[in-house]
Amino acid sequence: MLKGKTAVITGSTSGIGLGIAEALAAKGADIMLNGFGEADAIAALTKGIADRFGVKVGYDGADMSKPDQIKGLIDHATAELGRVDILVNNAGIQFTAPVDEFPAERWDAVIAINLSAVFHGIHHVLPQMKQRGWGRIINIASAHGLVASVNKSAYVAAKHGVIGLSKVVALENAETGITSNSICPGWVLTPLVQKQIDALAERKGISVEEAARDLLGEKQPSKKFVTPDQLGELAVFLSSDAASNMTGAALTMDGGWTAQ
Ligand code: NAD
Repeated sequence: MLKGKTAVITGSTSGIGLGIAEALAAKGADIMLNGFGEADAIAALTKGIADRFGVKVGYDGADMSKPDQIKGLIDHATAELGRVDILVNNAGIQFTAPVDEFPAERWDAVIAINLSAVFHGIHHVLPQMKQRGWGRIINIASAHGLVASVNKSAYVAAKHGVIGLSKVVALENAETGITSNSICPGWVLTPLVQKQIDALAERKGISVEEAARDLLGEKQPSKKFVTPDQLGELAVFLSSDAASNMTGAALTMDGGWTAQ
């Protein structure tokens, strides 16, 4: 279904980004991975996906907090894969503290990676998408793009910003064949969330399993983690022709979190 298409997925060496990269590759898209990790592990990942799905898989280690490296990522993907048809803005980090104790440099880092990187990626990829009259921009926001939680000022601000930016891109390109949408996951069990579970277990003096149950119980009515595979399938749908008239949307997959 995506044979002949190419996708750049930021932050795809782990978690949700990796799930989306694999789902797009499974449908035949050539992909460019990005994110941090050990060189050997990344080489194995790249080869594994290429062998399993028979697609081209590249890797670029751009640091998404650096605008010039984001341009480099789009240029590299265009040179190696021939074009960029689908951009998945996924890389993200978390930091938690009350606003009055939130270190300014952590605020800057979260905003740079979770929000400004989304702007820079879109800015650099749009001209070629416009030229071809086809493009898919998929922004991984969060339930925290729609509602707030304590101690997550930078993350919540960035994710609300991503949804707003995504809507502007949708409107500016409504007649161009390019769509721009946000996906808003609830809790997904990835390294980013495991850190929060471990911290909760330590703070409450409970087991990691109990902490995971508490975390889900507090916000996610389904009491089940969303999976990277499920989010991958949503990204596949957004990349399909069936989704050509879906733009400017913020799609939840959050076990009912934001229905409350
Ligand atoms: P993760 O920590 O498993 O993966 C993050 C990825 O981003 C990794 O590949 C990492 O190497 C990469 N990355 C981090 N900083 C980077 C940088 N400066 N430059 C390039 N790559 C960088 O996290 P995840 O849970 O898979 O999160 C992915 C996205 O999904 C994030 O935007 C996050 O906010 C969002 N999200 C996650 C959850 C969840 O419950 N896990 C829920 C809602 C939204």
